Amino acid sequence: MKIITSTAEMTVWSKEFQAKGRTIALVPTMGFFHQGHLALMKQAADEADLVVVSLFVNPTQFGEGEDLSSYPRDFERDKELARGQGVDVLFCPEVADMYPGKGLTTVVVEQLTSGLCGASRPGHFDGVTTVVAKLFNVVLPQVAVFGQKDLQQLIVIKRMVLDLNFPIHIIAHPIVREEDGLALSSRNTYLSKYERQRALCLSQALCMAQQHIRQGGNPAQVLDLVHEKIASSSDVEIDYLVLIDDRTLGVCETIDEHAVLAMAVKVGKTRLIDNGWLLTRDK
Ligand code: AMP
Repeated sequence: MKIITSTAEMTVWSKEFQAKGRTIALVPTMGFFHQGHLALMKQAADEADLVVVSLFVNPTQFGEGEDLSSYPRDFERDKELARGQGVDVLFCPEVADMYPGKGLTTVVVEQLTSGLCGASRPGHFDGVTTVVAKLFNVVLPQVAVFGQKDLQQLIVIKRMVLDLNFPIHIIAHPIVREEDGLALSSRNTYLSKYERQRALCLSQALCMAQQHIRQGGNPAQVLDLVHEKIASSSDVEIDYLVLIDDRTLGVCETIDEHAVLAMAVKVGKTRLIDNGWLLTRDK
């Protein structure tokens, strides 16, 4: 596995292999790998000849008071995990290389970014779309793999690719969970043993919602049930609990195959998100 730290070198590498007819899949990450990241890497290997994993804790997607400085990092461990997954390039650029000087250009996807996580993290998605657009231009992949764990991000990126004609196929990977249901996240490392237990209310609420819908429940009842389940979990503060349409991220009034339960809560100081389709487990 090659480690590349320079954006210029990354582009040279990609162009060299593309000239030989090889396809490249990119997996953008912020590191501190877990099985979710590794599953994305595996999927990337199935989709293209070569896999590039970017590891970049992007400062522009963190708001004031968020965890940029404390975001978990372990480069040596990440390197070994990526190597074990057969990754071809681990691309870890410096902040100064990704953002030389003050950039005057921001990629903004409107409407889709104003609600849900965008409402409590103003500017977050502008940071995400801008850095992902830059990574696309540096790595020049044919395919990029994103997790459904960050469903709003996935939908926003798909829209950016459509609107800006990026010649890149976006692939979604289902949420990878712990055995007890907790969605894997680098931020789970912040949770104390007690908080880790409290965090299970998210996946449990999702299962309850899916079961309720199978038994003929309507959207309002499902939301009530989920709200009650999570509100009754001590030390869990609700940010949002909504039923949304996976195409528009707008509120869905009727349950069909596009209906997703999307949730964000704070457990202690840690913000956690989870989601799932109500009629089909994974897409
Ligand atoms: P991050 O390093 O947290 O920015 O995540 C990098 C990529 O991994 C994003 O596309 C995430 O959606 C995806 N990801 C993170 N956690 C999971 C998970 N539990 N299951 C599937 N994909 C995930």
